[in-house]
Amino acid sequence: MTVDTATQAAYIVSGLLFILALAGLSQHETAKAGSYFGIAGMAIALVATVALALDHDISRTNLGLILAATSVGGAIGLHRAKVVEMTGMPELIALLHSFVGLAAVLVGWNGFLLVERDRHSAEALSLGASGTLGIHHAEVFIGVFIGAVTFTGSIVAYLKLSARISSAPLVLPGKTALNAGALVAFAALTAWFCVDPQLWLLAAVTLLALLLGWHLVASIGGGDMPVVVSMLNSYSGWAAAASGFLLENDLLIITGALVGSSGAYLSYIMCKAMNRSFVSVITGGFGIEAGPRTDTDYGEHREVAADGVAELLSTARSVVITPGYGMAVAQAQYGVAELTRKLRDRGVQVRFGIHPVAGRLPGHMNVLLAEAKVPYDVVLEMDEINGDLAETDVVLVIGANDTVNPAAAEDPTSPIAGMPVLTVWNARDVVVFKRSMASGYAGVQNPLFFRENTSMLFGDAKDRVEDILRVL
Ligand code: NDP
Repeated sequence: MTVDTATQAAYIVSGLLFILALAGLSQHETAKAGSYFGIAGMAIALVATVALALDHDISRTNLGLILAATSVGGAIGLHRAKVVEMTGMPELIALLHSFVGLAAVLVGWNGFLLVERDRHSAEALSLGASGTLGIHHAEVFIGVFIGAVTFTGSIVAYLKLSARISSAPLVLPGKTALNAGALVAFAALTAWFCVDPQLWLLAAVTLLALLLGWHLVASIGGGDMPVVVSMLNSYSGWAAAASGFLLENDLLIITGALVGSSGAYLSYIMCKAMNRSFVSVITGGFGIEAGPRTDTDYGEHREVAADGVAELLSTARSVVITPGYGMAVAQAQYGVAELTRKLRDRGVQVRFGIHPVAGRLPGHMNVLLAEAKVPYDVVLEMDEINGDLAETDVVLVIGANDTVNPAAAEDPTSPIAGMPVLTVWNARDVVVFKRSMASGYAGVQNPLFFRENTSMLFGDAKDRVEDILRVL
């Protein structure tokens, strides 16, 4: 068996392992196995690719460079993954997407420059004769375009998520027309480049795509960021697939297509969860419009102390906990898991209601609760729990805000109007754990805090949960 055949076989095994990884990651119970499948697939892919390069007689220097780059990159990646806080995960993911985009741009440029250098070589002439040179140029152009959009788009997402720049949407006049114009220009430049490949055309499309990526994400604000991160995930997959075509690497095409389509599907699910139009997300034509300033006077809020909450819980028959970003910040999940055990031991029905975009990335809350060993079967999704909230005695809102905001359902002028939310206000009593009356990620006031059946328990969520545990 030649190295070529062995590599192709290894690539098929890797591709299958990546599919098993995705399937595994879709459920709590199998998520760990899914991660192992992914790691195994990537390890096989790396070894096979290096073996293939060796078989093609690469120089010692190049082999040294590959090994050095892989070791340095791997070490940095391992370190970053180890030290990253769960709350910093979305920005790390956004940053990693930007690397995929940049790699696609470099691969595209390299592909073009190599063909230019060998323009008169036999290989290029045969490509030209068979008409494949035009296809090659199209691959270069499309790969560079998607890669550059992903690169700057991901950098803006990183800067916004890490609060290095304001998360407010940039509203340029005629922003949709600008985006549409850029796409039309891209189509025209692609046709031109396929017929008459010139360096300045490639430079022009790179610049156009860098600006478009920046504008697409800069014009999206606040609560819509989760969809953007998942959309960029999808773009990075397509950028990798484009590089795969250029490098004639089947595994890169398969992997890119898997990432591209699963990212697009995740974005679609999230759009449904936030009542956003999927099409307007991919074209960048949405974002929180600056709504009317909400100076509405909602009246007074009521405060409660930990012992008051403990008393409420000791008479409750059913409790629903809706965690949010604040639980992650406070690292309150272990106390919450302990509280769940205590209440369940007393015969109280305890369940969790998870909003699809609670926290700062999809599945954020599920990961934290799984880490604290909360049983999977009491962790329900928003749609599964919303119907039961009216029959619930006590809802504990732990560090959540936008995801339980009644204005989304009741106030058409609210910036988050139409976003499906957990209808916690229908329960008999609601206790909100947070440190102040400050607004959540979307910067919108929450009328829930002023409702008759709501009490505010101020302070760090972890400390307050521990206080309640002590009283119980
Ligand atoms: P929010 O960001 O709306 O609210 C979190 C609340 O937690 C804040 O109001 C804050 O209030 C409170 N809090 C912060 N730290 C603590 C602490 N130590 N102890 C107690 N409370 C604390 O969170 P949600 O989860 O409800 O909503 C998620 C938001 O993030 C949505 O707008 C969503 O669109 C957006 N988003 C989601 C992403 C995703 O994929 N899940 C990605 C990016 C954005 P206070 O300061 O008063 O304590």
